[in-house]
Amino acid sequence: EAKRAGRATWRFFEASMNEAAMRTLHIQNALRAALDQGHFSLRFQPKYCGTTNELVGAEALLRLNHPELGMLTPTEFIPTAERSGQIVQIGQWVVRQTCRQIRHWQAMGLPAMRVAVNLSPRQIAQPDLIDTMIDIVRAERVDCEQIIFEITEAVAMHDAPKTVEMIQAFQHAGFEIAIDDFGTGYSSLAYLERFRVKQLKIDRFFTHGLDGEDRGSRAIVSAIIALAHSLNMEVVAEGVETASQLSELQFMACDQMQGYLLGKPLTADAFSALLAERMSAGDACPQASS
Ligand code: C2E
Ligand code: MG
Ligand code: MG
Ligand code: MG
Repeated sequence: EAKRAGRATWRFFEASMNEAAMRTLHIQNALRAALDQGHFSLRFQPKYCGTTNELVGAEALLRLNHPELGMLTPTEFIPTAERSGQIVQIGQWVVRQTCRQIRHWQAMGLPAMRVAVNLSPRQIAQPDLIDTMIDIVRAERVDCEQIIFEITEAVAMHDAPKTVEMIQAFQHAGFEIAIDDFGTGYSSLAYLERFRVKQLKIDRFFTHGLDGEDRGSRAIVSAIIALAHSLNMEVVAEGVETASQLSELQFMACDQMQGYLLGKPLTADAFSALLAERMSAGDACPQASS
């Protein structure tokens, strides 16, 4: 009797739950099994030099192949993984997998590309984050110099004094750091100077603003580039989708470009093929030792 009532209640609950909540529940369950069952994969989006157009590296982007929901992008499952804490283990898998890919490219005789890996707030809050990353990278016999960790501006500025220390510890180990989605948060310019990171990545909102008559975006992008260069940082433009955005950014001396116009996130095999093709054309420039 009670059991039947329970089932009826559950069915009622399920029917009345909105679709978004059901999806979250589905994703939570899927995340539990995903690591063991090999449902995660990485895509590699090419990064190109702004002046020579050479292929200079890649950003690793996570995907979850859900048995029922299909291929999910991080915006659909990372918030859930953040809340549950699963992102910590998933993030370790991402770095390990990135290292294996780097080794694979080395074994194929392809140029040593520097690969960017994203970090989220929960990962950054782990006191042993850097030690764990060093252990993983060394175990995979990859140089820390080949990994560049991306931290969003909002996360970096959230506790800026702590971020300064963290960046120093990463750099001490040989890792590079990039500030992601730059321009969307509130940056303290004083702290930006103290961060001394390798790269600032201009958020695609500003890249897209370069189309048409938007004088505001143009002013902001050129100011970011000037500021970054005066602090010895490189600038990467995200989300380059049109030829006019590209030429505008090149005119403003943006160092690196990333976006659908130049290359979508590719499977590891597709990225290997691109790398091989670019290498034989003399058009791939490893950044690992720069
Ligand atoms: P992000 O780090 O800012 O990555 C750039 C996002 O923009 C990627 O979305 C990429 O596919 C997309 N993108 C690239 N070029 C273009 C373009 O020309 N136009 C447009 N409209 N979009 C473009 P994706 O792969 O869905 O990733 C979304 C976010 O999820 C990332 O933003 C990053 O914050 C996070 N993320 C991705 N992989 C990981 C990961 O392994 N760990 C963690 N913690 N976060 C990750
Ligand atoms: Mg990123
Ligand atoms: Mg970004
Ligand atoms: Mg972004």
